Amino acid sequence: MLEVSGICKSFGGFRAVSNVSLSVGTKQIVAVIGPNGAGKSTLFNLITGHLQPDNGTVRLDGREITGAPPYRICRMGVGRSFQRTNVFPRLTVFENLQAAFLVHHRRGGNFWTRAEDLYRDDTAALLASIGLTGQERTLAGTLSYGNQKQLELGLALASSPAVLLLDEPTAGMSASETHETIRLLESIAAERGLTLLFTEHDMEVVFSIAQKIAVLHQGRIIAEGRPEEVRADPEVRRVYLGHGLTHTQ
Ligand code: ADP
Ligand code: MG
Repeated sequence: MLEVSGICKSFGGFRAVSNVSLSVGTKQIVAVIGPNGAGKSTLFNLITGHLQPDNGTVRLDGREITGAPPYRICRMGVGRSFQRTNVFPRLTVFENLQAAFLVHHRRGGNFWTRAEDLYRDDTAALLASIGLTGQERTLAGTLSYGNQKQLELGLALASSPAVLLLDEPTAGMSASETHETIRLLESIAAERGLTLLFTEHDMEVVFSIAQKIAVLHQGRIIAEGRPEEVRADPEVRRVYLGHGLTHTQ
């Protein structure tokens, strides 16, 4: 579904992502892990068109999307969430989600139909599937941090992506918010048949839901495989030494 080959990105003379190849199968759940500064967010930005690679290609379902603008990659079926929360704080939860549908369908209001009347059923259904029913009138900026991340997931889902990239979906969450988010992600992925690529620092989360793990270190993939293979890999153990494989940043 998603095929990254030999992708590179330097900032000045610094190689943030160096010759990374990664493939993600249809409906597969894949985690990219690695210490802070390893290049995870940069890799995601290269896949979604937010950064242009110096070298290498990205293919979505066989079609090359390398370097295409983010809106086009989004329309082709790649949704994403950001490491930092990205909602409209002064709109309500309902309005945030409704706006995401309007943008995706390129509809504003017109003389005959007001924008507020469009996609109300879709919005209500999405609200329920992200577990925010009852919060529709809450201003997004006043939601708890965990609920804002849930809303952000909803914004990404409004474009009905085939592939969803999540950059640290549980960053900053309490243990119970993390647990709830993971449960939600698993059920949404299964229900919609989503292909999921995510980065995460909480190893418990990674090992509980990833079917494949790629380990990034200083811009390079140093290990890739099933969770138990990666956990046993000596190079991975060396990189994470002193942190343990349970709580790694
Ligand atoms: P991670 O998400 O794994 O923590 P990042 O992809 O954010 O890592 O960053 C990888 C490296 O690239 C870091 O050393 C970071 O400082 C550097 N970097 C990221 N974005 C930029 C940028 N726009 N300009 C310069 N350096 C950057
Ligand atoms: Mg990051």
